Amino acid sequence: MSDRAGSITREGERYPASPHELRYLPIEVPSGGAARPIAEGVYWLRVPLPMELNHINLWLLEDGDGWTLVDTGMAHDVCRETWYELERDALGGRPLRRVFVTHDHPDHMGLAPWLAERHGAGVWMSRDAHRSAGDFLEIDPGVLSERIGGFLHSHGVDVSPGSSLVRGDHREWFGGLPALSHAVDDGETLDAGRGTWQVVRTGGHCGGHLCLYDASREILVSGDQVLPGISPNVSVLSSAPGADPLREFLASIDRLGRCAQGTLVLPSHGRPFHGLHRRLAGLAGHHHEQLDALRGACTEPRTAFELLPTLFRRVPRGFHRLLAIGEAVAHLNYLLAGHELVRQADDRGVYRFVVPAA
Ligand SMILES: [Zn+2]
Repeated sequence: MSDRAGSITREGERYPASPHELRYLPIEVPSGGAARPIAEGVYWLRVPLPMELNHINLWLLEDGDGWTLVDTGMAHDVCRETWYELERDALGGRPLRRVFVTHDHPDHMGLAPWLAERHGAGVWMSRDAHRSAGDFLEIDPGVLSERIGGFLHSHGVDVSPGSSLVRGDHREWFGGLPALSHAVDDGETLDAGRGTWQVVRTGGHCGGHLCLYDASREILVSGDQVLPGISPNVSVLSSAPGADPLREFLASIDRLGRCAQGTLVLPSHGRPFHGLHRRLAGLAGHHHEQLDALRGACTEPRTAFELLPTLFRRVPRGFHRLLAIGEAVAHLNYLLAGHELVRQADDRGVYRFVVPAA
C-alpha cells in the first residue's frame, strides 16, 4: 500500500487518550442522510469508510443560498451512497457552493472532484496539499513501490518482492485531482455557517493541513490535527525521508493552544468535544514519552525496525507496520535534528541510531 493512505490513524498505544477527561457533546451521532445541528448554521454529517477507521465527520456550513462543505469522504461507493442520502435530506435541495478540504488524505478529499462537478462547487484547499495530492497521483506505481521498499530497507525491514507493505496504493480512493478554485493561506478568513472562521495552518500529520477557528463562538474544526480518541499519525514518508514532521506537529499543538479554553472541537474522527487543552497536552505528552523511550533504547545502535517494540506494545503487521516505521522514524529524525542521536549507515545502506559518545 501507499505510504499516503496515512489518513489511517493509529490508537495511541503507550499514552492512551483520556476520553474521560473530555466532555463529548451530548448529541446522537448522525447516520445516513442526517445532519445534526452543532451551532447556528453549522451541521455535523458522518460518512462511513470501508476500512478499520470506519467513518469520517464532515461539517456543513450555511453559505448564502447554498452550503460550504468541509471534507468529503473517499471516492468509494460506500461514501457515494451516503452522499445521495445527504443530498436528499441534509442539503435540503440547496447546492454545495464550496468544498473546503482540510488536507490531502483520501478520506478527506477523495470525493472533492465528484461533488464539485455535481454541484458546480469550487474546491478550496492549501496549495501544498493540492500539489502533494497531484504528485502522488502522478507517480508511477512501480516507482512508488520501489521507493517505499528502499525506505523500509534503510530502516531495517526486510522487504520481499511483492510484499503487502508496498503492493497496491489505493490511488482510486482519490477520484482524481480536483481543480483548485482557491489556494487557501494561513490567516485568511472564511465567512460561512453564520460565522467568520480563521484559517490555521498546522503541520506534522501532513503538509498543508488546515484547521478553521471561529474565535467569537469558540469552535475549532480540527481536521486530523486533533482527534479525541486516537493519536494522529505523525510519520516520515518515503517521499521525504529526512523530514522532521514531529517538530511541526508539536509546534502546531502549541499554536492551537492559543484557542480559547472553552473551545468546542469538531474533529474528523470521533465525536465533537470540549477539553481541547487537555487533549493537546495529552498528545504532546504521548510524543515526549516516545522520545524518552527512544533516548533510553539507543544506548546501542539500533534500526527503526528494532525499536518498534520500544514504541508499540504490539508490533503492528502489514500496512500498519509501514505506518509504525514512519512514526518511529519521525521520532528518530526529531532526535537526530536535535543532535541527541547520531545515525550510522552500514554497507547495506541500513541506518542505526545511537546516542553520541560523550
Ligand atoms: Zn489525515
